[in-house]
Amino acid sequence: TTLPDPAAGASPVMAQFFEAKTRQPDALVFFRMGDFYELFFEDAQKAAAALGITLTARGQHAGAPIPMCGVPVHAAEAYLAKLIRAGFKVAVCEQMENPAEAKKRGGKSIVHRDVVRVVTPGTLTEDGLLDARGANRLAAIAVRAGAAAVASVELSTGEVECLATSVSGLASALAALGPSEILVPDRLFADEQVSAALKAAGGFVQPLPQALAEPSASEARLKRLYGVETLDGFGALSGAEISALGLIAAHLETTQAGKLPALSAPRRAGEADVMAIDPATRASLEIEKATSGSREGSLLAAIDRTVTAPGARLLAARLARPLLDPAAIDARLDAVAWFCEHRGQRQRLREQLKGLGDMARALSRLALGRGGPRDLGCLRDGLTMAEAVVALFASTRDPLVTPPAEIASALAALNPDLHADLLAFRDLLGAGLGSELPALARDGGFVAEGVRPELDHARALRDDSRRVIAQLEARLAQESGVALKVRHNAVLGYFVETTAKAAEPLMGAPLNAVFIHRQTLANQVRFTTVELAELDAKIAQAAERALAIEVDTFEAWRDAACAVAADIHAAAEAAARLDVAAGVAEWGEDVGAARPTVDRSTAFEAEGARHPVVEAAVRRAGEAFTPNDCRLDGAGAGGPRLALVTGPNMAGKSTFLRQNALLAVLAQAGCFVPARRLRLGVVDRLFSRVGAGDDLARGRSTFMAEMVETAAILTQATPRSLVILDEIGRGTATYDGLAIAWACAEALHETNRCRALFATHYHELAVLDGRLAYVANLSLKAKEWNGDLIFLHEAGPGPADRSYGVQVAKLAGVPQPVVIRAREVLERLEREAGAPAHLDDLPLFAAAAPAAERSGPSAAEEALKVLDLDGMSPREAMEALYRLKGLL
Ligand code: ADP
Repeated sequence: TTLPDPAAGASPVMAQFFEAKTRQPDALVFFRMGDFYELFFEDAQKAAAALGITLTARGQHAGAPIPMCGVPVHAAEAYLAKLIRAGFKVAVCEQMENPAEAKKRGGKSIVHRDVVRVVTPGTLTEDGLLDARGANRLAAIAVRAGAAAVASVELSTGEVECLATSVSGLASALAALGPSEILVPDRLFADEQVSAALKAAGGFVQPLPQALAEPSASEARLKRLYGVETLDGFGALSGAEISALGLIAAHLETTQAGKLPALSAPRRAGEADVMAIDPATRASLEIEKATSGSREGSLLAAIDRTVTAPGARLLAARLARPLLDPAAIDARLDAVAWFCEHRGQRQRLREQLKGLGDMARALSRLALGRGGPRDLGCLRDGLTMAEAVVALFASTRDPLVTPPAEIASALAALNPDLHADLLAFRDLLGAGLGSELPALARDGGFVAEGVRPELDHARALRDDSRRVIAQLEARLAQESGVALKVRHNAVLGYFVETTAKAAEPLMGAPLNAVFIHRQTLANQVRFTTVELAELDAKIAQAAERALAIEVDTFEAWRDAACAVAADIHAAAEAAARLDVAAGVAEWGEDVGAARPTVDRSTAFEAEGARHPVVEAAVRRAGEAFTPNDCRLDGAGAGGPRLALVTGPNMAGKSTFLRQNALLAVLAQAGCFVPARRLRLGVVDRLFSRVGAGDDLARGRSTFMAEMVETAAILTQATPRSLVILDEIGRGTATYDGLAIAWACAEALHETNRCRALFATHYHELAVLDGRLAYVANLSLKAKEWNGDLIFLHEAGPGPADRSYGVQVAKLAGVPQPVVIRAREVLERLEREAGAPAHLDDLPLFAAAAPAAERSGPSAAEEALKVLDLDGMSPREAMEALYRLKGLL
């Protein structure tokens, strides 16, 4: 580090900087100097480079100039955002008093400064730094006694979650959360599975000392965070869960400088509660994000019709973690179905919700001491709207149309009449909070009249004095006969101003006895009078007093908000749930989606299903999307559980595979599905290995990446899982690839026994149909017409007749001579070599002896063993050799 020796005669301000920097060695220190945050030494060099701002110098330290750069406080948020995105942490060191206060302490006292917060990617709360429709989670992982846990907090809303899992489940658990920052006990980095999971999750990784994850320290910290005596109220937390939550508590203590956020009790889930979707599957299905990294083109973007930011976040969370319990899924579906039937209420609800602010984020800012009157306004307006929302449903008196439990419970959370404290809080703000709200409490003017008599009094005094000043101005002008004005600025307070020419009489006797010269500018001269100075002091005092009362009132209201935090969270969440249900209904109506039936069977019966994203794209191009059926039975049921999907390139194989996987995600997330009908037995794990997604960035060849993912599927898929495999084995030589595809298909069928869709361009695999009990051939149809290829995008029974590769090459614009030549070569090959291989004769993989047993002696070896070499004539020896050769 280039940080120089702080002891080398630092100036008092620099000594303060060194102190802050020593406490936050790995963060850039934003050091408040008046209207700027300044950075020094190495921090300045890094920040100047990252922000593209000028690096200068300020003063000297130890005989060398101090490198410095600065950003204005009013624009700091944008710079912060840039630094955080570039992977830095930023410690904000504020002035804790104003210069006047420091002066009062006398002598050479400098302003007291302290780090009030360390900004990291996972601890952002400012609207300007957050994606309103996306969550921003801070996660922590811990492993104890072989069990693992992932804890997470969304600091901007106070939501805490905890998931118990295994070390091998960490990747899926982290991927489901998509955290922007992950806390990891440093000892865990040695674990290969952990580092792979972290790499796949992609957030900013923050190593913490192992000691912070120790159970007793973690427990103590957690109790402090929640202000509780015992953790029993949170259920039986495992050691790993306590450690993970404890890491979060530790990180919040340091980054929030002791301010306690309003957190919800940890919501706990186990692996038995949510569909496991590993990072590769999540990425390839483009659930929350498209491959490009943007939201556009994802499943989420295609179905999201929510009208509030919290609603959008909830929908994203649901798609990220589909459920396993059919009853819980049904509860969500009931709500969607109800909104489909009650269009009027849906429309009115959505109209209402449009104006709803982000209550959870406002509350969180208030609790962390970063909120302002506008955040209170957001709560007031939100709670007022809650009542209006409840009223919308109150008109539904007919018991036959009583909303289902999911909606009813949301309405109960929103109904102020059921929450006396919430109602009192809303009324408090309703009466007290003004209509024009500043961002900061110290800007004042937000407390309504009639709330605090002392405030009204101070304001009256202030305003009254202003009137007296206006009178004084008129009187002074009249008495002096000079055209003058009384003005105000922050430095001089109130003063009399005239033009330079008009000022002359005021500077001479007798008027100079009244007018006291203060300042001469190019064109103006400024004076004061004894009377004006007195008035000025009185006004300043009254204004100061008014402001102090307002700030005091703000703090009282903020405390009141924190006292009803749990109720506010519940109301905000309820509004989000209604928004999601109504939004899904809206989307369902737009695209013609149906309610799925989800049960505990292993069925997969989709009729007339479509891919929501591809369909939208196809429609935009003015074409129609062809719906397709897909039927799989799981282990134990009679029908096929493995479907081999063939068809030419571009026929729609990938689309078909993904659309069926997405149906499962949507259904278990509690959404309607783009199909005429879907019956689904809950899928416990979803796997997708699609396309040759290049993983070169991570230093693996495409083929290696494919095999790693395939290995994961073959070791983890259960009879309740759904697997889609696209073009497995494509990345290697033909026979290698075919062999691997063949073996994988057999293993899925025989060992995993899961439902699987297996797309392949190896038409040779079609023969598996006759050899394995539960295999079906499907193909996406195309036909040739006048030498051109027409894709029907229709999935039908039976394998594809041919691959039409040459036709596809022609469609793709490969020059005609090349296409013609390719056709010639193809004809030659087909004529001379016959069918590529007689794979029909290959013994069935599963029927052949397993590898371990096959290592025994072969027939040739056995025969060799019994030969009596010494008793053989040369001729007999020759014959024996021929026989042996025949055995190979
Ligand atoms: P494959 O995997 O067989 O090469 P894709 O699934 O990538 O083919 O589909 C290629 C293109 O065909 C898609 O981008 C889409 O435009 C179109 N397509 C696929 N399925 C359908 C369908 N069911 N209806 C209409 N168009 C489709």
